[in-house]
Amino acid sequence: MIELVIASRCTGCGDCVSVCPTHVFDLGADNIPLIARQEDCQTCFMCELYCQADALYVGPDHDRAVPVDADEIINSGLLGQYRRDSGWDEWANNTEYTSQFWRMTQIMNGGREVSATRKNKPAA
Ligand code: SF4
Ligand code: SF4
Repeated sequence: MIELVIASRCTGCGDCVSVCPTHVFDLGADNIPLIARQEDCQTCFMCELYCQADALYVGPDHDRAVPVDADEIINSGLLGQYRRDSGWDEWANNTEYTSQFWRMTQIMNGGREVSATRKNKPAA
């Protein structure tokens, strides 16, 4: 779930606001996005993927907010990891990093459970 916008890194490009499928962000003062509807976040990582300033942090928990410390996240090296390891932008020719789809494990498992429920439903 989206947890952080690092305002000091944000360039105000607005890309995260545009690509978020569930309209989690509002554009705030100086074009810095605000997390306005965190509960609507699908943990799809699209905002991280499109943020070339690496100013966003999406946590792997899809079903609950897990507040994080901004300084810890900045120092952790996690900012921009999803974009880098997905091979976007300046990382397009980098073969050192692997896919980060493991970060979506929870949401994939949730989808599998929903799918199993549907399969077991008796025909109407
Ligand atoms: S992770 Fe996906 S749903 Fe959540 S804020 Fe980012 S783009 Fe929106
Ligand atoms: S994509 Fe990144 S740089 Fe652009 S507005 Fe969103 S947080 Fe700021």
